[in-house]
Amino acid sequence: MLFERLQKPSHLILLTGLLAISLPAPLFANPDPAKSRKASEVLVAELAEDESVEDVEQSVPRTTAERENKALKPHPSRTGAGIDTPSAPARKVAPNIDLKEVAPAPEAQATAPAENTADTTGSELPDAGAGTESEPGPELRPGEAFTLLGNDVMPGTSTRLAWAPGIQIAGLSQPTPVLVVNGVNAGPTLCLTGAVHGDELNGIEIIRQTVYDLNPEKLSGRVVGIPIVNLPGFQQGSRYLPDRRDLNRHFPGSPEGSLADRIAYSLFENVIRRCDMLVDIHTGSLKRTNLPQLRADMNNPEVAEFTRGFDRMAVVHSTGSPGMLRTAAVAAGIRTVTMEAGESHRIQQHQISAGVNSLTSLMERQGMISRMFVWGDPEPVYYDSDWIRADHGGILFSEIELGARVSQGEILGYVSDPITNAQHPIRSSSDGRVIGMAVDQVVMAGFAAYHIGTEAEVPGE
Ligand SMILES: [Zn+2]
Repeated sequence: MLFERLQKPSHLILLTGLLAISLPAPLFANPDPAKSRKASEVLVAELAEDESVEDVEQSVPRTTAERENKALKPHPSRTGAGIDTPSAPARKVAPNIDLKEVAPAPEAQATAPAENTADTTGSELPDAGAGTESEPGPELRPGEAFTLLGNDVMPGTSTRLAWAPGIQIAGLSQPTPVLVVNGVNAGPTLCLTGAVHGDELNGIEIIRQTVYDLNPEKLSGRVVGIPIVNLPGFQQGSRYLPDRRDLNRHFPGSPEGSLADRIAYSLFENVIRRCDMLVDIHTGSLKRTNLPQLRADMNNPEVAEFTRGFDRMAVVHSTGSPGMLRTAAVAAGIRTVTMEAGESHRIQQHQISAGVNSLTSLMERQGMISRMFVWGDPEPVYYDSDWIRADHGGILFSEIELGARVSQGEILGYVSDPITNAQHPIRSSSDGRVIGMAVDQVVMAGFAAYHIGTEAEVPGE
């Protein structure tokens, strides 16, 4: 059975072949038909991305009226260089550095967010117009200085800035690196955020590889990468902030709210509002893994158009929950998607490669870079999706692999009760593709185990 499924054509999504690992079928897969029937009532729910259990329970699709109200509004602070953060003092010119070189850790400090540790001593500062000598083509306009976190990043340069939320508690005032590549030519500002959940590691490496490989002399526009947004969480191997709050439910934040509100506010005001486009990179949570995929509100035409640039990466429609960085950024007029790649706590090279390729494709599509080899204009695949939950507690054994194509009613796996030896099958609610799933583990009744995507049309097409 496993073999049959693996032999089905699966040309629609990049990397399927790499993901189809052949594992032996679980030994427990020997159901008795009466029990199968009894357990066939699967619970289906639409989930927010990389949900926690609480979010699963609270995830409610938005109403139509709310959707209609979501056209992107331009934000005044995103346009034009030279607009600075509200409290910015005198600005510094950021040093032009090779991001691939080893850098000292940013100095621990507890300063206001607009200030940071860029050190200009001994650096080679280019003249303001230095980058424009390379005779831009007819459509290319010379880039301008880009002001971020109190620094002017000159066109044609790369630099490493630092953001700290400015909260005076040990460990929280530690600055996290902000990588900036300001292209020699003008263009849009693309921002990349990773490890908003501190235990999600693939995004850190996706951002590092993407940004480090950019040549500012060949870039139109700017790329801003924050590989580790939740530095305290990263240091503790935790999804959460030290107060156990989920940072990705507190955007755009507030200067007077909880710790999470304040950190979210600082990031949003100092960095995110300067972006035209944002890709927030996550992984599955609670021992779940995802095919590389985008989560996007396909009811928003500008967001839907934005998803076309990401090569063949799967796109799953998701309106998003209040407080998510994606939701808040879209509300602020920034074209934003979430990228999901793999599992938390792991570095997965094939997921990282898929992410880097996808972002490279996006930058090309946005006119920011030109790739030497162009391989057509592959369109993404769009999915509606449902999560299928276990309705019994026990040990989950999957019968299918991530990326498998499944039919309605097909058995995806079993929950085995180690006390009674009862086997409870979990069946697919629809024909589709397994775009996310739990790894084998102990589950409680109600645990979201399989994410089934069904191919869909983009709304309005
Ligand atoms: Zn996450």
